[in-house]
Amino acid sequence: MTIAIARTLEDVQAQHGCVLVPTMGALHRGHRALIERAASIADAGQPVVVSVFVNPTQFNEQSDFDSYPRNPKRDHRFCAEAGATCIFEPALETVYPADGSVRPPPLPEAARLPGLEDAFRPGHFSGVCQVCRRLFELTRPVSAVFGEKDWQQLVVIRALVSMLELNIEIVAHETIREDDGLAMSSRNELLGPNHRRRAIALARAMVEAGRHDDPKEAEHLGRRILLASRIRPDYFCVRDAETLLQPSPDRPARVLVAARVGVPRLIDNAPWPGTRIPGC
Ligand code: AMP
Repeated sequence: MTIAIARTLEDVQAQHGCVLVPTMGALHRGHRALIERAASIADAGQPVVVSVFVNPTQFNEQSDFDSYPRNPKRDHRFCAEAGATCIFEPALETVYPADGSVRPPPLPEAARLPGLEDAFRPGHFSGVCQVCRRLFELTRPVSAVFGEKDWQQLVVIRALVSMLELNIEIVAHETIREDDGLAMSSRNELLGPNHRRRAIALARAMVEAGRHDDPKEAEHLGRRILLASRIRPDYFCVRDAETLLQPSPDRPARVLVAARVGVPRLIDNAPWPGTRIPGC
């Protein structure tokens, strides 16, 4: 299976009108599901582009950026096998020209909500919105596929697209998990065996929290389960699935968690209540 490799502005022009899957590489089965979804919704002849770019502006710590797993050769093979027609691997200067003209866009409200990512990774969503707008500008997709694994990011990107009045359909794909319930993540590669075992507490805590239909009790129970595994979460909370504000009984809700487990910081989420995760 051959795959085009685009690196420059000129290369990527041939991909306009594509279905785009934005990634930071170190691809795993979660990304694969997104690429397969993209291939399944693409019309005949429509390019299916996977962008691989480790975006420096969304990292809070240089060490996290430096240690982020990278494996370009394996990524190429992976994209081709999953049905992509092009892999877009831009150089830093292609995404962010030296003249500083690519600025972060205005930030949607959902990116700045207290108690979620912004409280622990200030500036993260500014970088995410900056790179997504730039990737959209470079690849001009008709649709773009994002994972539910990063639920707040999904909500923020939808809001960004609507705010900028971009004509791009945002397609959400469900979270792909390991057999024991751990959500797949490039950062899982950084877990040692002991932390890998403990990391399943994230999924277990969400499932247990899903047995309660009072959000405060659910949050309390989830945090207790994490602490019992010596995991101190940045947050473990129940929020409205669409607005990420406090939940109300008549609207869909999600439980969202972020925690450092050893070196990597892991995030996950699931529908709440009645949370079901196979393997947990
Ligand atoms: P990343 O390379 O981590 O920036 O992720 C690129 C895309 O893959 C994002 O839309 C993520 O939400 C999605 N993604 C990452 N892990 C998973 C997973 N386990 N299941 C589904 N989508 C995922």
